Amino acid sequence: MPVSGLPPYDSQNIFARILRGEIPCKKVYEDAFALAFHDIAPQAPTHILVIPKGPYCSFADFSASASEADIAGFFRAVGKIAKDLGLEAPGYRMLANMGEHSGQEVPHFHVHLFAGRPLGRMIPA
Ligand code: 5GP
Repeated sequence: MPVSGLPPYDSQNIFARILRGEIPCKKVYEDAFALAFHDIAPQAPTHILVIPKGPYCSFADFSASASEADIAGFFRAVGKIAKDLGLEAPGYRMLANMGEHSGQEVPHFHVHLFAGRPLGRMIPA
């Protein structure tokens, strides 16, 4: 269900096409709720994208529209991926862009996992 005032889900967006197997990705994890793969233009030594399997435009859409099972399954997958990749001890940053001011480019909800070096300030000064 699209968020009021925002466009509906675009089934041709790049992550929808990756989910359908129409475009390749460097997969790191998949279960019933989530698919995780390397970002094509990494901004840290480790830069993973985790996306839900369902058609949600953004975090606003996902948090309002997804079932509790899908929300729990997705975020448990994010935690498991970070743990399995060995990111917990050195630490990592989890980030989701939502909407125009955030710079969200791909209109399918996704979480970025950045790791592999000290990541500096959250927001540039
Ligand atoms: P956003 O700005 O929407 O939060 O992040 C979108 C991310 O998707 C960017 O970091 C961008 O590099 C990544 N991306 C865009 N197209 C592709 C693609 O075709 N494959 C992969 N693996 N990542 C992509």
